[in-house]
Amino acid sequence: MQTTIRKFGNFTLRYRPYTLELRHVFTIAAGSRSTTPVVLTALEYDGTVGYGEASMPPYLGESHESVLAFLNRVDLSGFDDPFHMADILAYIDQLAPKNTAAKAAVDIALHDLVGKIMGQPWHRIWGYNPADTPNTSFTIGIDTAKVVRQKVKEAAPYKLLKVKLGLDTDKMMIETIREVTDKPLCADVNQGWKQREKGLEMAHWLADRGVIFLEQPMPKEQVDDNAWLTENSPIPTIGDEAVQRLEDVHSAYGVYSGINIKLMKCTGMREAHQMAELARAFGMKVMLGCMTETSCAISAAAQLSPVVDWADLDGALLTSNDVYHGMEVVDGKVVLPHAPGIGIRLAGDGII
Ligand code: MG
Repeated sequence: MQTTIRKFGNFTLRYRPYTLELRHVFTIAAGSRSTTPVVLTALEYDGTVGYGEASMPPYLGESHESVLAFLNRVDLSGFDDPFHMADILAYIDQLAPKNTAAKAAVDIALHDLVGKIMGQPWHRIWGYNPADTPNTSFTIGIDTAKVVRQKVKEAAPYKLLKVKLGLDTDKMMIETIREVTDKPLCADVNQGWKQREKGLEMAHWLADRGVIFLEQPMPKEQVDDNAWLTENSPIPTIGDEAVQRLEDVHSAYGVYSGINIKLMKCTGMREAHQMAELARAFGMKVMLGCMTETSCAISAAAQLSPVVDWADLDGALLTSNDVYHGMEVVDGKVVLPHAPGIGIRLAGDGII
């Protein structure tokens, strides 16, 4: 697919649609899929290039077409300094009410560019110690007992497994995993439970089997039910579908024990950083998640990982045609590249 090249004064913006292939068909409570559309971006200023990415799992409502249409509307001719990030990203945000992944594609490229001009990685610019990175979980989708056992074996290097729940196979999934490993688990229900009493019963059942937290147990609209479950649950709850952007951190306070930050939901690194710091100020837990993404968006998110409680940054590992090298997982732990910006290198010649 073609790369679009647009020049605005000293800035050049490039973008190209790409399709990420998944290693396994991936099933969650909302459905199954084997590819994820992404759009790769590059923002150049004065000879320095920053890279970005939009990832569009279908449930977010964005597509190649919607992201390209958004990027076609971007006009950076009013800006002449990449360090004016607040102004540039406020301009990007007001171009359309949603399109959060498209906005993230610009935000990440701008962060990478500015970090490279400064000669520093973003975790250092933000003041975080790369030694503080957490273990990342590895996600086991909903599947048959045989496939689940196989996936648990593949996840051998990981110290925390994330289990997708929310169908009537929940207990089978956990019991199958417990036949083969006693590693700590986290459970993502993806809004799959509808009744709070049943949710509480499951929370106890899961806690007894080594599940350490519960992601989005009930539909986000059931605010009182989620708050009630959080108050009574023996393990923390994390709002994911309920928490998209900075303003949602405030409404999640008292409803969930913590929030799951994802760059594609919150328009990128700038707002993700603000959300993490705000949630910390509220005394909430912070989890850092991802979509299926290349190492570009994953490495961008990973810059924030030293400050979070839990990371779920396996998105690039679930794909078979990544186009960058970046964040690595060594012995289950997130390892940040010691390189400026978001710390990625093109694999081969790169495709943008
Ligand atoms: Mg989730």
